[in-house]
Amino acid sequence: MSTILVTGGAGYVGSHVVKELLRQNHRPIVYDNLQTGHKEAVNDAILIEADLSDQEKLRETFHSYPIDAVMHFAADCLVGESVKEPLKYFNNNVKNSIQLLEMAYEFGIKNFIFSSSAAVYGEPEKIPISEDHPCLPTNPYGETKWIFEKVLKGFQDLGRMNYISLRYFNAAGADPEGDLGEDHLPETHLIPIVLRAALNGGVVPIYGVDYDTPDGTCVRDYIHVTDLAQAHILALKHLERGGNSGIYNLGNGNGFSVKEVIETAKRVTGKEIAQIGSGRRPGDPARLVASSEKIRRELKWAPAYPDLETIVETAWQWHRKHPNGYEKS
Ligand code: UDP
Repeated sequence: MSTILVTGGAGYVGSHVVKELLRQNHRPIVYDNLQTGHKEAVNDAILIEADLSDQEKLRETFHSYPIDAVMHFAADCLVGESVKEPLKYFNNNVKNSIQLLEMAYEFGIKNFIFSSSAAVYGEPEKIPISEDHPCLPTNPYGETKWIFEKVLKGFQDLGRMNYISLRYFNAAGADPEGDLGEDHLPETHLIPIVLRAALNGGVVPIYGVDYDTPDGTCVRDYIHVTDLAQAHILALKHLERGGNSGIYNLGNGNGFSVKEVIETAKRVTGKEIAQIGSGRRPGDPARLVASSEKIRRELKWAPAYPDLETIVETAWQWHRKHPNGYEKS
């Protein structure tokens, strides 16, 4: 059993990881300001409600628990907002993350798992994207993830920390047991927006219908959030047994267009879903598809829910049961 500090553990991906840690008899200590996270999502884990910038609270947390490793999810993660408010992103995702890393080092912690993003790549030169693809982020959000990966590498080069950075493609779906789901305010992600339209009516805007893709809409690689969670557990085990630090992509290697996602949602829900072609969203690459060969090979990761139908189905189950999200359900 390990004690894991999980920053952002009440958020969408973090909470699914916390559930998996609990299931495997680890002790997650969730550190979350609950700005976008949900108390209801952390189950029986200890929850410390505080901001990442709160050095005193962070220090108290490291003093209070025998933390073995850190999983760091807490971040601002809206691409559009990052363009408008870049300093907010550099402060939280870089400065606060460095402070966390330094404090973890001070307390003798050796293993650090970081929630990174495909946004580090920017507009891809070739598909599928492997980890050695150049990183040229096209927005401050991607920049901050890329910078912090370099900070981690710097720490590792000095022998101060071992790390795994996981570059997620499009996290989607919900806990197959129905305990957890995706609930952002405002919601900006395609699958929840489509499912809410199926549930409550409303029209799904398609951001760009003139991309150089088969049907003109953006193509993304959707990965089930529970498969992401499993990757974090594998990363933890890898570091605990003395494995090398490294960076891994996480996707399924299949690209689906926005229109294909809507069609899949129509099949899964049995409902009509209205859509309207709209302008492009700034900073959206036409196609993002991962090669996850490295994590399959080195950490033996194998997704349990790789097909889009299942991903949408699990999300639909949660949305149907929680039409107003966590609090008001
Ligand atoms: N998208 C869309 N309509 C929406 C929300 C998203 O057409 O209401 C598109 C978006 O432009 C992107 C894809 O769906 O091409 C996935 O977007 P999402 O925000 O879910 O994830 P991202 O790829 O930005 O991480």
